[in-house]
Amino acid sequence: MILFEEALKIVENAAFRIETERLDFIRSLNSVLAEDVKSDMEMPPFDKSAVDGYACRKEDLLSEMEVIEIIPVGKEPKKVVGKKQCSKIMTGAPMPNGADTVIMVEDVEEIPENKIRYVKDKVKNNICFRGEDIKENEVVIKKGSLIKPQHIAVMATAGCVNPLVYKKVKVGVISTGDELVEPDVKPAASQIRNSNAWQLMAQIMNMGVEANYIGIALDTEESTREMITKAFEDNEVVLLSGGVSMGDYDYVPQILNELGVKLFFKSIAVQPGRPTVFGTRDKQFIFGLPGNPVSSFVQFELLVKPLVYKLSGNEFNRQRLLLPMGKEYNRKRSTRLSWLPVKINNDGHVIPLEYHGSAHINALTDAHGLIAVPIGQTTLKEGELVDVRQI
Ligand code: AMP
Ligand code: MG
Repeated sequence: MILFEEALKIVENAAFRIETERLDFIRSLNSVLAEDVKSDMEMPPFDKSAVDGYACRKEDLLSEMEVIEIIPVGKEPKKVVGKKQCSKIMTGAPMPNGADTVIMVEDVEEIPENKIRYVKDKVKNNICFRGEDIKENEVVIKKGSLIKPQHIAVMATAGCVNPLVYKKVKVGVISTGDELVEPDVKPAASQIRNSNAWQLMAQIMNMGVEANYIGIALDTEESTREMITKAFEDNEVVLLSGGVSMGDYDYVPQILNELGVKLFFKSIAVQPGRPTVFGTRDKQFIFGLPGNPVSSFVQFELLVKPLVYKLSGNEFNRQRLLLPMGKEYNRKRSTRLSWLPVKINNDGHVIPLEYHGSAHINALTDAHGLIAVPIGQTTLKEGELVDVRQI
């Protein structure tokens, strides 16, 4: 049995970055940038009006002003705004020369002879200045960023239509267990539905990488071997759930050995999820996760996610969320690092949720996150700050 921190280090050290490819930028959503995105122009590219209104000179605001031009978007102004003059201007249209302010259409009274009067006394200039957001050649999105919808807008603006990204990691999922049936089947006596594999599939999909479901392996050496071999055919990472504890039918570690997988650990001093197995085979990775759904969920969060992030080139750094405990928590034994599902109250306090152990299938349904109780510690005091790892 090794410490969780050691296990994490082993997993992270085993990872490398996978290949890159160029994608059409809209298809790059949820991929990770493998190069900085730079803008080929400044933004805004010209001084533009931030509102619908009248472009004029600030010094004339107390006077009546003559409207000399209407400036629509996408057109260059033709006239220079002189003393006691103004041009009607639309949001996003270029500022005319001579004007230093735009007054909003709502704050203006139209008067005879094509004139207007400003009816407020305070004024902002209401101009977005050329280059105030982005300079030419400026890095607008950094290498290693996970591409989100807001990045797509920046890419569009910067003219980056074929970003270089890391190829999506492919993760295959296998369940093991003679007792399992798929969710669309009503289990007979002594059977249960396969929840783990689908939870893992969803966890993988949530990371924006490719999730491939392989199936349920029976608790025989042949079936387990066959499924693992199939999963390795087309996935960089393989996740197995079940079959890794000490039961008579838990063949996984032995078969992994036979398949040429180098095993790094078979057991971690963590709760839930002690019997977690990790190995590599050339440039592929395999986790044997415990069969109980809370354990496999937690070990995915703690170990699989960091591996997939690293493989994907994602320089994700989890932000700590330090919040006070809303009530005291106690445990009897403290030989393992333990993770507890918690809720965050409306007033920002952390409340441990009812948790019957790793087989408690719905223990996480109301959880906002997990908190750690370190080895050697039995109590978390009310008011003590804890780091909530959001899930
Ligand atoms: P194992 O690690 O195979 O000994 O399984 C530990 C426990 O988790 C047993 O109660 C199994 O029935 C249960 N279990 C294993 N695999 C799954 C699965 N895919 N979905 C739900 N429960 C499972
Ligand atoms: Mg089993």
